[in-house]
Amino acid sequence: MVASRAARERKARTQAGPLARVRIDLGAQEQFVYKISCTECVVKNDRPWSAYRPGEDNGFMAAMDRWIFHLREKHPAAEAPCLEFLPAAEQRLHERRQQREARRSAADPD
Ligand SMILES: [Zn+2]
Repeated sequence: MVASRAARERKARTQAGPLARVRIDLGAQEQFVYKISCTECVVKNDRPWSAYRPGEDNGFMAAMDRWIFHLREKHPAAEAPCLEFLPAAEQRLHERRQQREARRSAADPD
C-alpha cells in the first residue's frame, strides 16, 4: 500500500513537470487523495493554486486533467510530460459536460 502510493507519487511528479508539487495522501476511507499544487501561482488567502481529488485512477486523472488545463492557461511556455495528454483531457472535459447536459434535460424535460 505504502510502496504503491510512493510509486504513484513519483509517477505523478514526473508527469506533472517541474512547476507542480504533487502529494498523495490517504483519505478517511483509506483511499488515495491526489493533490497537485502550482509552485508559482497564488490564489486567495496566499494559498497556492491546487487541484485536489480523491479516488483511485479516476482521481489521479481528474487531478492531472485540472493541472494540464492550468498549465495551458497560466504557463503556456512550460514543458511537462503530462501535456501530451491534453487532447485526452479535453475529450474527457467535453464528455463530462455532455453528461451534465443530459442529466439536466432528463431532470427537466420540456
Ligand atoms: Zn500556476
